[in-house]
Amino acid sequence: MLQNQLQLLESDTFKELTAPTKVCWNLTSRCNLQCKFCYGPQNIKQELNTIQVKKVLDKLKKAGVQRIVLSGGEPLLRKDIHKIIIHAYSLGLTISLATNGLLLNEMFLEQTKNYLSMIEITVDGPDNKIEESMRGNKKIFHQITKNLEMVKSKGIPIKINTMVCKKNFLLIEQIGLIVKKYNPKCWKIFQFIPKNRGRLYKEEFEITNQEFEQLKQKITNKFSELDIIWASKDFFNGSYFDIYPNGNVMIPEIEKDNQIGNILTQSVEELWNNTLVDKKKHIQQAAVPYES
Ligand code: SF4
Repeated sequence: MLQNQLQLLESDTFKELTAPTKVCWNLTSRCNLQCKFCYGPQNIKQELNTIQVKKVLDKLKKAGVQRIVLSGGEPLLRKDIHKIIIHAYSLGLTISLATNGLLLNEMFLEQTKNYLSMIEITVDGPDNKIEESMRGNKKIFHQITKNLEMVKSKGIPIKINTMVCKKNFLLIEQIGLIVKKYNPKCWKIFQFIPKNRGRLYKEEFEITNQEFEQLKQKITNKFSELDIIWASKDFFNGSYFDIYPNGNVMIPEIEKDNQIGNILTQSVEELWNNTLVDKKKHIQQAAVPYES
């Protein structure tokens, strides 16, 4: 798939694509955490029901979408999440689940392990203290690492995400040692983005581009055995094609999310051809292995 996408970029034929190759679907804005850096959708009451979600999946597949990242909020708060995963798989879509990891359990993993291409879990600190200072909840570190172990034992590929900010900037090496234990397919390290709730914590959290670059050099050398994706603020802007819980389709940017329409009422092609979609940037981002 990667090779195909790189060929698309080289040949310029990506301009003729009728759909994004990858869609990030924020199925709910509800969450069991209140992370200070959260830039996901907030307080969206309306959520598509199971039938609507399945219909949209059919539509995405028919239009040519290849990969879906199911995210939130916390997607495991949806009682139908396993049905959504199984339906998407049955269509031939590649499915990743992006979760804070706290609600994973044996039953869910058994139900879905054959249908998920990857589970993405966030680890922001090497202990409870740092996780609490960033995510406002005590004792989550132990639960997250316990559940990472459970995912690993099921043989489901793992991706670990880490948000870098002032709170954990000096601890990324320690986090890397924890990440290594789970033998992930990749480790994605994000630069803090002052967006949505994160805007309130800009002073407390923000690091400079230069600090992020310095960290990149240091950690890349230290953990050469890990496949690391570095997601700077620039990487974020304009490269995603997101569906929000109510079906609105958004092109997120740091300053604001641009709504380009709604997936229930418009065709994928029409949305994809909106002038706010930067097709080249999208394909470049989607071509990064394990990128979500
Ligand atoms: S960052 Fe993720 S886990 Fe944290 S509040 Fe936002 S959606 Fe929930």
